[in-house]
Amino acid sequence: MTAIDELLSRNEQLEDRLRGDRSTPEPSLHIAILTCMDARIRVFELFGLIQGEAHILRNAGGVVTDDVIRSLALSQRKLGTREVIIVQHTSCGLSMVTDDEFKDELEHDTGLRPTWAVEAFREVKDSVRTSVQRARRSDFLPYKDNVRGFVYDVHTGELTEVQ
Ligand SMILES: [Zn+2]
Repeated sequence: MTAIDELLSRNEQLEDRLRGDRSTPEPSLHIAILTCMDARIRVFELFGLIQGEAHILRNAGGVVTDDVIRSLALSQRKLGTREVIIVQHTSCGLSMVTDDEFKDELEHDTGLRPTWAVEAFREVKDSVRTSVQRARRSDFLPYKDNVRGFVYDVHTGELTEVQ
């Protein structure tokens, strides 16, 4: 049995499938949450969310990339969100590699060097600041007054704002 089969089986047993507002694609809290793909970050539980309340964007690191700007532009311009919360975290996989190292590895194995940035970092707070600045500076996002960044401690569950 693959992990996909396992998930499908769990889905069949869900009891609260219809909880939350399904009537509109516009999030009722008018917020977009960007965080890392890290399996220890349970976004819904972390913020007590139910269906219909927030857009959730995830990638390696929870980093603002061009693709995240694409999603946020749609989120704000077409789906009514007004705030962005960026949550990166302690002991992130991206703090354990470097851009050059990972690009070298890919190039060695495939003969191709990616054009995208790996977005590796040493200090998570610096990475949060960079992502917050990218969002705030983006000409494509009309609502930038409430873009805030946080570090989530995966061991204690504590959330700390990065100024
Ligand atoms: Zn991570």
